[in-house]
Formats: sequence, C-alpha cells, structure tokens
Amino acid sequence: MNKILFRGLILVLSIFAVYQGLKEVPWTKWFGIDEKYIEIEQEVGDALWHLIESSETISTDTQNIKVVDSIVNQIVIRNKLQNIRFFPHVIDNLQVNAFALPGGHLVVHTALIEKVETQEQLAGVIAHELSHITERHISKKLLKEFGVAILTGATGGGEGARKVLTFISSRAYDRTLESEADMQAIEFLYNAQINPLGLAQFMEIMSESDLPNELDWISTHPSSEERAQNIKNRVDELPIKVYKDLNI
Ligand SMILES: [Zn+2]
Repeated sequence: MNKILFRGLILVLSIFAVYQGLKEVPWTKWFGIDEKYIEIEQEVGDALWHLIESSETISTDTQNIKVVDSIVNQIVIRNKLQNIRFFPHVIDNLQVNAFALPGGHLVVHTALIEKVETQEQLAGVIAHELSHITERHISKKLLKEFGVAILTGATGGGEGARKVLTFISSRAYDRTLESEADMQAIEFLYNAQINPLGLAQFMEIMSESDLPNELDWISTHPSSEERAQNIKNRVDELPIKVYKDLNI
C-alpha cells in the first residue's frame, strides 16, 4: 500500500515538474507569434497614419520638424534604441497634443510645440510618447478596448480605423501604463543628457491651463500635479548630471 502511495506521489511530482518545465518554454517565440504580432502592429500603425495624412495638414515648418527629429534622434542614439523603428510626424493642428500610434509612429501637433516654454519640456512629452511605443502600451490599450478583431480590421482603413484613431489620440492609458511611461521617459531623457524635469514642468503648466485637457496623460489619475511630483522625486534619486542645453 505504501509502495502504491509512493509511486502515486512520484507520478504527481513528475507531472508537476513537466508542467513547470513547459511553462518556462518560450512558446510564442518558437511559433513566431511575436514576429507576426509586430507585423500586424506595423500594418495597423501605417494604416492609421495614412488616415491622418489624408485628413490633416502635414507641417512644412522646417524648424519644427528639425526640433522634433533631433529630440527623437538624441533619445534613440543615447538609449541604443536603433533596433526599433520610429516615424516622427509634425502636423498643423490647434490642439495641444502628441500621441503614439502602433508601429513606431509619433504624431506631434504644432500647437504643442508652440505651447511649451522650453525644448526640454517638448523633449519630456516626446520621451513619454516614445515610452508608450517601446513598452508596447498602444497595443495593450487597443486590445483591451477593442479586442483583436477590430485591431486587424483597422488595417483596411475605413470606419474601424477611424474609431481606433479617435480612441488613440484622445483617450488616456490606464494609470499604471501612464506611470510606467513617465518613469521610462525620465530614464530616456537622463541617458540623453536632457533635463527630465522638463516633463514635470510641462505637466504643471497644463494643470494650470484653462484649455481643455487634451494631452492623453493630463486627464488621468493620479492628477498631473501628483505625477509631476513623482517625476521630481524620481529625478532626485538619480546621480547628479550636468544636462546639455538643448538649443536646436
Ligand atoms: Zn501617456
């Protein structure tokens, strides 16, 4: 009897060990699911950008384009992000806004460039949006809201794509993703030798503004004041660094 119990125990333990082992196997990688998913993301992002391109005015202001490109390049190079493709776009739009699309597209409105008081503040917003791209937050947000069906449907353009676009450009991410993007942005800026306090300053400016809160992360909880404080606290923990003077 004891022998049978012992064998039973061994069997259970073996099954458990195999199960644990299987959990560790990178199945998604083996079956190429990640690669396929990245491809879909790129297609969705491209389709959404084409929709914007066909309905908005692309900025021809060479200085604005140069500033945005330069900030993105500095962050990418100093954080070794060259393996990710980024497509920065500047559009003439009166709403103070910037947002990321799937597939590395970053859209910056000219009103945001005019609203910031320093290039460090703009760099803060750009770093925050780039973080949504590198952390794959956009897909998480879309999948949560729409599911896979509409996401793949969006590649065809039309109503599905428009719905997705409105959602991406006007709605907040959840609180956890916003905090994650703030913290990642600080790291990106710090490594690029750009003062990360610009992000906190811009949040403070927007929280005092009479304008409707158009930037995704302004309307979220915790409040922008609280987030500005969290950013300052994090920056205080970092080793002191001499930041460069952005003068693009
Ligand atoms: Zn955000």
